[in-house]
Amino acid sequence: MAKTVQVAVSNTTYHFDKLYTYLVMSDQENRVRSGSMVLVPFGKASKPRMGIVLGCDEVPVSAKLKAVYDVAPDTAALTPDLLRLVLFLRERTFCTYYEAVKAVIPYGALYKPALAEDGVTPVLQKQLTRHTENQYRLVGQLPQKPKPTAKQLAAVALLGGGPRLLNDLEEKGISKDVLERLCDKDVLCCEKVNKTIDLYSHIPQKPLDVTLSPQQQAAYDALAPHLADHAAHGALLYGVTGSGKTLVFVKLIEQCLVLGRKALVLVPEIGLTPQMIYRLKSAFGDRVAVQHSALNHTERFLQWQMIQDGGADIVVGTRSAVFAPLKDIGLIIIDEEQEHTYRSESAPRFSAHEVARQRAAENASLLLLASATPSTESYYAARMHKYQLVTLTQRYGGNPLPTVEMVDMRAELAAGNPGDISRTMENAIRRTLETGKQAILLLNRRGYQTVTVCEDCGQVLKCEKCSVPMVYHKAKGELLCHYCGSSIHPAPKKCPSCGGKLQYTGFGTQKAEEELANLFPEARILRMDQDSTSTKDAHERLLAQFGRHEYDIMLGTQMVAKGLDFEDVTLVGVLGIDSLLFAQGFRACENVFDLITQVVGRGGRAKSPGHAIIQTVAPDDTALNLAAQQDYDAFYEQEILFRKLSLYPPFCRLCMVGFSGTKEPDVAFAASRFAVLLGQLASKQEKMPLRVLGPTPCTITKINDRYRYQLTVKCRGDKAFRDLMRQVLAAYEKEKLPQKAGVILDMHADGDL
Ligand code: ADP
Ligand code: ZN
Repeated sequence: MAKTVQVAVSNTTYHFDKLYTYLVMSDQENRVRSGSMVLVPFGKASKPRMGIVLGCDEVPVSAKLKAVYDVAPDTAALTPDLLRLVLFLRERTFCTYYEAVKAVIPYGALYKPALAEDGVTPVLQKQLTRHTENQYRLVGQLPQKPKPTAKQLAAVALLGGGPRLLNDLEEKGISKDVLERLCDKDVLCCEKVNKTIDLYSHIPQKPLDVTLSPQQQAAYDALAPHLADHAAHGALLYGVTGSGKTLVFVKLIEQCLVLGRKALVLVPEIGLTPQMIYRLKSAFGDRVAVQHSALNHTERFLQWQMIQDGGADIVVGTRSAVFAPLKDIGLIIIDEEQEHTYRSESAPRFSAHEVARQRAAENASLLLLASATPSTESYYAARMHKYQLVTLTQRYGGNPLPTVEMVDMRAELAAGNPGDISRTMENAIRRTLETGKQAILLLNRRGYQTVTVCEDCGQVLKCEKCSVPMVYHKAKGELLCHYCGSSIHPAPKKCPSCGGKLQYTGFGTQKAEEELANLFPEARILRMDQDSTSTKDAHERLLAQFGRHEYDIMLGTQMVAKGLDFEDVTLVGVLGIDSLLFAQGFRACENVFDLITQVVGRGGRAKSPGHAIIQTVAPDDTALNLAAQQDYDAFYEQEILFRKLSLYPPFCRLCMVGFSGTKEPDVAFAASRFAVLLGQLASKQEKMPLRVLGPTPCTITKINDRYRYQLTVKCRGDKAFRDLMRQVLAAYEKEKLPQKAGVILDMHADGDL
């Protein structure tokens, strides 16, 4: 008998994503197990491919099998917990095994194919090598002949006190060359050690010293017992903006640690909750590990390893942190749970909620969703008693919510003000500045002018590769496509199709910044958008400056709307979000309500009361008005009715099927063929309620020269449905339609791919 392994290989299509059997050589035998990372020969040419072992077996020796090339060290193998998550993701999201592997562990923990020193033998190599650094140690006597140099003497003297890192020695004026030469003489030896990166070490640790308000205490009391009851439990903490949800989290985490269990805290985007890390670090110090998208590969990997080695009790991070290798998780928090960033838009297309529910079930944890504007689905689940509902109805300290005023921009224009900033807004900003307070202004468009139209033929200038208007960026004087990044430099004056004069219109953050500077020359204005925060740590630094009142006005895109807590902010202004009011997708209203409620909630959080002004061309919009009144319950009642009547989640699941390819007729054909196959296979099933809409072109019909079509499937989204879709995918593959159009399935999209 010979030992074999079943391996899922990388870079395969969904159709060919099955397990392949390989022989294990005797010297590898005790190094492979389920979860091992391996290098295997694949295809006719036996090209090396990465793979992950999912099963081990014994077969008769005669079996003709290819042998595994190389096995990664045992420390790199997936733990049983992570392996289960890989299988879970594949079952739920229609991804391949290896796509799931890449989602659950960070890039730095992966291996890649390489060649051994002989130049021919395929071997595994760590994906990331920069996470180690050289450390030098004294191991011998410095010979007196030839006469040692001053640097050599200095190096030996320094290392007499113990090993030191290269960096440290270099800072003291000793070069790598000097050290290497001493290694050659066997005076020193060099070892590779893991870098330690002390992220956020500048945050001072302060002992927890808060007394919960009676409402917060009641919320805590309702939730805390579930940390210890050895059963999975779901709860929704619905608390108005400024009610102090974070303090309730901190107390729950503290209790979780007292019980000897670990806590996982998810935030939607590091920019949206910059203060969460600060608060957790200051309360819990170096037992907090972070896992978020703004870390580089090395930082992320080292933090991950610290979690894996049991060095962290608390993990805070964005979507993928839901896979953090924590053991015995007592508490999982999803803050601002309604945010779309919890849903992945590339394979594997998972939602952090579904993974968190799974992990909570496996660990018997308390899963706590929290928001001032819960998603309609989550609130419905709470109403139906699937989640425990816990509410905070008052702001901490009893501050009132801001008063809200709407400004009709059409009336403003009729009254003779063609500008983008209304008189009301201008006066309110002036008063805020005069009283020494701060303002936050929201405009959800970056760039200078957002639309370019030809005065003669009326055409809007669009990107050549994408069906979206190009946006004018003033600093570089160019037109930019926000989807594919292509640019036209310098921005043209004449229409490319008829030669007519181009007119630049529309209002982006850069232009707003300029207009504000004209109106208030003495004000210090901070612009926060993707363009102004692209450098590392810029975001955190700018927010800190605003917090120290080094700026008077913060103007920005959605990144200024949420999670911020600054006591001097008394005015919140919405300069424009009109494009959102006309957005597609069944969550469009919810998104408007959420954004407005959240941004309004940034004002008046300390002693001084807040005021908010919303400029719009659609002052009658219901979601907008209910948000202005901060009436979540009324909004929910209306929204749930809409979802029920039009059949949208939570009353069904939505499975979006997306097609894309370079030739539009091919894409359209592939999409309609998929719909036919789906219809045929579904009709053979009993009790499979389905509604199929489309195929139709997506709202953005072309991105990066690829045409896009979509099919909307309203379904139950259960195992039977997923099995059906797998059959359809196989049939689609058999007809070789993927050559015409790539296909993706997304169970979490909002109906508009
Ligand atoms: P939310 O996340 O619900 O919008 P936060 O957790 O940011 O609210 O709390 C709002 C403000 O009130 C913060 O500045 C916070 O420090 C303060 N706060 C809340 N609860 C307490 C408490 N129990 N003791 C002292 N300050 C509190
Ligand atoms: Zn483009």
